[in-house]
Amino acid sequence: MTAESASSAAAPAPTDFIRDIVAQHVAEKRYPKIVTRFPPEPNGYLHIGHAKSIFLNFGIALEQGGVCNLRFDDTNPAKEDVAYVESITADIRWLIAGWADHCLGFKPKGAHPSAQTVNGKPDLYLGPAPANDAAEAFYASDYFDALHAYAIELIKRGKAYVCDLSPKETEEYRGAPDQPGKDSPFRNRTISDNLDLFTRMTAGEFPDGARSLRAKIDMTSPNMWLRDPLLYRIRHIPHYHAGDKWCVYPLYDYAHCLSDYIEGISHSLCSLEFVPHRALYDWVLEALDLPRALPRQYEFAKLLPSYTLLSKRNIIRLVNEKVVNGWDDPRLPTIAGLRRRGITASALRKFVIGVGVTTYNSLIDIAVFEHAVREELNTTAARRLAVLRPLKLILTNIAPDETVACTATNNPQDEQPTTRPVALTREVFIETDDFAEVPPPKYFRLKPGGEVRLKYACIIKCDEIVKDASGAIIEIRCTAQLDTRSGQPNADKKVKGTIHWVSATQSVAAEVRLYDRLFTVPEPGNEEDFMKVLNPHSLEILTARLEPSLAGASAGECFQFERTGYFTVDAKDSTAGKPGFNRTISLKDTWTK
Ligand code: ATP
Ligand code: MG
Repeated sequence: MTAESASSAAAPAPTDFIRDIVAQHVAEKRYPKIVTRFPPEPNGYLHIGHAKSIFLNFGIALEQGGVCNLRFDDTNPAKEDVAYVESITADIRWLIAGWADHCLGFKPKGAHPSAQTVNGKPDLYLGPAPANDAAEAFYASDYFDALHAYAIELIKRGKAYVCDLSPKETEEYRGAPDQPGKDSPFRNRTISDNLDLFTRMTAGEFPDGARSLRAKIDMTSPNMWLRDPLLYRIRHIPHYHAGDKWCVYPLYDYAHCLSDYIEGISHSLCSLEFVPHRALYDWVLEALDLPRALPRQYEFAKLLPSYTLLSKRNIIRLVNEKVVNGWDDPRLPTIAGLRRRGITASALRKFVIGVGVTTYNSLIDIAVFEHAVREELNTTAARRLAVLRPLKLILTNIAPDETVACTATNNPQDEQPTTRPVALTREVFIETDDFAEVPPPKYFRLKPGGEVRLKYACIIKCDEIVKDASGAIIEIRCTAQLDTRSGQPNADKKVKGTIHWVSATQSVAAEVRLYDRLFTVPEPGNEEDFMKVLNPHSLEILTARLEPSLAGASAGECFQFERTGYFTVDAKDSTAGKPGFNRTISLKDTWTK
C-alpha cells in the first residue's frame, strides 16, 4: 500500500445520496458486482468537471470492491478523434494513480459482445473483464453490431419504425413542452417494411437525413424525450475507431443504456441535464425484456467552479483562437493543464470530495480549490530561495571572494525538518518590491537608512542608493551585521521585516511563468462574449534568480519559493539543467478583497 492509499484509507469514506443507494443495492445483492463507468466522448480534453465524475465513479468502485470502466462514448463520428482517446486515457491514469488504479475495468482484447442465454432468454454480453494491461479500454463503437441487432429486435417487437420525415419535419412533429406532438405518417409501417427499410438504410441505399429509425413510444408524452426519439440516423462518414463499416449510427440515448447493460454496469452516474432522459434509458432496456439485472441511471450536479469555463466547446475556442497555448496550457481547467501547472491529483480529489455530490447546481468558489492546493503543497513542497524580480545589493563589508555559510530549513512542516547550506556573498539579489526609496507608512522592508533581516542570514542596513544617469537604481549598498546570524552573539536582535534573497554570484537564472486566473469575472460563461472578460495579466514571464540547486530540479517537482508561491518544473518546455518553472499557486489569495 502506498503512503497515499494508506492515508486515504484512514480518511472517512465520503457519504452522499448516490453512495447510500449503492450501499442499499449491495445489501440487497441486487447486482453480482458493483460496476460503474466513466463515459467521455473523445471530442476534447478532460477538465476539472470530469474529474468530479471520475472520482465519484472510481470512488464507489473502490469502496465497494468493484470496477469502473473507461468507455469512450463514441457514437458521433463527426467530432471524435484518436488523439483525444490518448489524452483522456493518460489523464485518467494520472488521476487514479496510487489510489484506484486496480479498479480500472478492462475489456478482453478484441472482445465483442457475444450471444449467451441467461434464464432461458437470449442475451448479448461482453463477458467478465480481466484486470490486466494486455486488455483494452471500452468503446461504445465496439457495440455497433450488438446495438444494431437490438434495433432489429425492437422493430420485430413493434417498438421501432423507420420514419421518412426530414430532420426539420421531425422537429416540427415533436411539438413543444406545453404542446403535444403529432404522430409521424410513417409510424404504422408493417414490421416487415420496417425490417426491409432498416436493412437498406444500413446497406447505404439512402442519403444522410433521408430516413431514421425511431422508437415508438408516445407523441403526447409530457416528457419530450419520449416523443418517438430517434434511435439511428444515416451518416455517410467513416468512424475513427469502427472504420468505414457503418453509414447508420446510433444516438446517444439508445447507445448509452445498452452499452451499460452489455458491460454489466450496475450504476450509471451522469449529470443533472440527463434527468429527463432517464425515462428513455429505462424504456429501451425494458422494451427488450433483457434477462440480467438492469443498470439504473442516477444524476448529480455538475462541478461548476468560478473564474473559469469548462465546456469542451468553450475550451476549444480558447485553444483555436490562441488565447492559450494549447489544451495543456496551465491556465486552462483541463486535467492536462492543471497537471502541467503542478496541481496534484490528490489535491484535486480532496477538493472534489469536499464539494460533495448533490442534486442542485451551484457555483463553487475557485478559492476553495486553491485552498486545497495550498494546504497540500504546504506539507509536501520543499522551501527554496528564489528572487523573481531581482534588485542588486552590495554588502560592502563582505569581501568579493568571501562566502558566509548560512543554513536554511527545507520544510518547517516536516516532523524533523532538514536543512541545507546557502551562501551569503558580497553581491546578493532581493525582490525589487522589497525596497522602497520613498516608503509608505508601516513599510517594514528595506528603505534608506533602514534595517531588515535576510532570511536564514543576518540583518542588513541600507547605507546608500546608487543610480545611473537617468536616475534608475542600479544597486543598493548595505552593511551586513554578521553578528546577528544564528549562533552569533547578536542573533536575538529584532527587526520588523524579513525578506528573501539569493547570492548574485552563486545563483542561476531561470524562466518563471506567473499564471493567474484566465477571466476577471466569476461567471465568464454568463457573459455575452467571454472573450471580453479575459484577464490581461493571466501570464507574466520573468527571468528569476534561483538557488543553484534548483538548476537540477526534475520535471514535475514542486517547490515553495519562500514568500512568493508554489512553483513546479514544467514537464514540457524544460531542458536538462535548464528548468522552466510554472507558478502552481500564489502563497496567498490575492483575489479576495
Ligand atoms: P462538456 O460539455 O464540458 O464538454 P460533456 O458532458 O459533453 O462535457 P462528456 O465527455 O460527454 O463531456 O462527459 C463525460 C462524463 O463527464 C459525463 O458523464 C458527464 O456527465 C460528466 N461531466 C461533464 N462535465 C461535468 C462537470 N462539470 N461536473 C461533473 N461531471 C461532468
Ligand atoms: Mg458531451
